[in-house]
Amino acid sequence: MKTIYLVIPCYNEEEVLLETAKRLKEKINILIEKGKISEKSRVTFVDDGSKDNTWSIIEHLNSSNNIFSGIKLSRNRGHQNALLAGLMTVKNYCDAAISLDADLQDDINVIDKFIDKFIEGCDVVYGVRSDRKTDTIFKRTTAQGFYKVMKVLGVDIVYNHADYRLMSKRALESLEQFKEVNLFLRGIVPLIGYKSDVVLYERNERFAGESKYPLKKMLSFAFEGITSFSVKPIRLILTVGIVMFISSLVALLYFLIIWIMGKTVQGWTTVVASIWMLGGIQLLCLGIIGEYIGKIYMESKARPKFIIDKFINA
Ligand code: UDP
Ligand code: MG
Repeated sequence: MKTIYLVIPCYNEEEVLLETAKRLKEKINILIEKGKISEKSRVTFVDDGSKDNTWSIIEHLNSSNNIFSGIKLSRNRGHQNALLAGLMTVKNYCDAAISLDADLQDDINVIDKFIDKFIEGCDVVYGVRSDRKTDTIFKRTTAQGFYKVMKVLGVDIVYNHADYRLMSKRALESLEQFKEVNLFLRGIVPLIGYKSDVVLYERNERFAGESKYPLKKMLSFAFEGITSFSVKPIRLILTVGIVMFISSLVALLYFLIIWIMGKTVQGWTTVVASIWMLGGIQLLCLGIIGEYIGKIYMESKARPKFIIDKFINA
């Protein structure tokens, strides 16, 4: 029988944690009773440097029932790193791990289907949202826009899939070989390959607490995703450069003609406009190049992506 670990990154989640733990414990127990998963299966919470009582709740859960285990990161490293810390720690104990959010927005009833597909031989099972009814219009449009931009840029990501997925031990071991520091799991997992499948589910609203992804974090996450996986923005600079060069030749011709006709003074608008335009484009290009250089800088440091402070597992 397969041992399954549920991995849940938590950042300041004291409001939802007890309820989440209760529901996940029920779920795991039902699956154990049905004979679907082994008794060694666990629910592992990763405390991503929370400032509230999250870790003491996790410790309490762990001492009350050994179905719960906990990992405490040395400080806040963000959702993706916390998730990776959890996955890399539990992969030595399980046959497959399922990652999900602490707020249980992802429907836990599809876990059964995840496990069925895993038993049928899939190494990666993606949870995909069937619709976005529960999102605000803003979140819906920005999120879908993001998936579309990624597609245009040639990045292979699963549409409407967040980080709710099952990965086999083998897939997790392969994930470990990706050494990059700028972590965007949704882009990396499809690169691993192996047999995969999707399971559709409906996403609920958070039952308590607030989103830990304010607009600023969301934007930087999207930007990270794009610049970590696509060099198309750099190529775009080249295209802009070529277009600008050709248009400047045309403009030059125009300037020459009016110069020959003796109307040069009138050129003031053109001159000023082109200075501003060129300046703007150059700055933009420098910015994009700088972004990639920044990435190279970070990658060359090869800093650890997380540091585990404690690991409690009965
Ligand atoms: N999270 C985390 N570290 C962070 C931010 C978020 O571990 O720095 C966790 C959070 O506790 C939750 C998950 O990532 O379990 C997703 O966050 P949230 O539900 O706030 O995002 P949303 O669903 O609003 O996109
Ligand atoms: Mg959420």
